[in-house]
Amino acid sequence: MVKIETPYYLIDESKLLKNLKKIDYVKNQSGTKSVLALKCFSTWSVFDLMNKYMDGTTSSSLYEAKLGHEYFGKETHAFSVAYSKDDIKQLKNISDKVIFNSVSQLKMFYNEVRHLKVGLRINPGFSYSHFDLADPARKYSRLGSNSDKEIMSVLDKISGIMFHYNCENDNFKNFSDMLDRLALKYELILKKVEWISLGGGIYLTKEEYPIDKFCRKLKSFSEKYNLQIYLEPGEASITNSCELVTTVLDIVKNEKDIAIVDSSIEPHMLDLLIYRIQAKISAKAGKNEYIIAGRSCLAGDIFGTYKLASKLKIGSTVRFADAAGYTMVKKNWFNGLKMPSIVVKRLNGKVEIVKKFLYNDYIKSLS
Ligand SMILES: *Cc1c(COP(=O)(O)O)cnc(C)c1O
Repeated sequence: MVKIETPYYLIDESKLLKNLKKIDYVKNQSGTKSVLALKCFSTWSVFDLMNKYMDGTTSSSLYEAKLGHEYFGKETHAFSVAYSKDDIKQLKNISDKVIFNSVSQLKMFYNEVRHLKVGLRINPGFSYSHFDLADPARKYSRLGSNSDKEIMSVLDKISGIMFHYNCENDNFKNFSDMLDRLALKYELILKKVEWISLGGGIYLTKEEYPIDKFCRKLKSFSEKYNLQIYLEPGEASITNSCELVTTVLDIVKNEKDIAIVDSSIEPHMLDLLIYRIQAKISAKAGKNEYIIAGRSCLAGDIFGTYKLASKLKIGSTVRFADAAGYTMVKKNWFNGLKMPSIVVKRLNGKVEIVKKFLYNDYIKSLS
């Protein structure tokens, strides 16, 4: 194999498949369908594998919905915090479901989409989020209707409801308790609608997640209210399936050894910077301590501090783990840095460079 120029995101389909099989298992055991949340991961080069195990896609915008419809197929769920007239005109021809974020939007566009399944997002007033920035139930949240009176006034127009209130939730007990709370609060509505989406953020593909308990809970809930349940996994679909592969360009010292790689946090793994999380690294732990940093001019462009078994030198490869979710969809040209290529290791072991970004792409992204 020829050496691939770094930096690149390396998606391993056999690791992806592990997650997909769990998602499929949940469907077989509980009847729950899962649609991929494209805002987390939109790398269509692996959709031919993903759409064998998932039921379709959900979106945050017209473009994502189009991408889902054209490249993933199966069910296309449209959602947007606020649709424009033009969005609706296009979405009504490609979506199976249109989910509104507010009652006012639902009323505004209902006549145009009434031939489809129409849903409403509800803000239950609680969530599992640990970050205010990402908390859908934060004070003054605009995400979903929080007025029971308003919701009841459009109940005859909707066939389903969507809640998104789990964020990075790997705690089954918490999931289960919150679902009971939801059931109690929205019993009347649950009895009337045909489908419910429980959103994303449930870490059902984590190694230690009690998946059978989870399936039983979903099954009894759907049977009790005679509902089709949907999940909208983003992170859980692709977790641990990708690495960002980089090369050390320089090692400098300022009290500690600092290895500078040919990538950067802000353009290539932005979520880590936003949420102040250290990148995970695929390397043996040991006693050689390094700060591993990016090559942008941002002072805080740091992937993390690590104690490694092997010493790093100029030319060493550094692999950051878990680099699929909220990375490629957010990458940007900050500092004019070379954009990581996207490389896929197929199920049969073949390694394919599916995308390379050149200077010309940088120029084209500007004007
Ligand atoms: C972000 C989001 C998801 C996916 O969330 P993950 O944490 O990546 O699973 C699903 N549904 C909605 C409405 C979202 O906003």
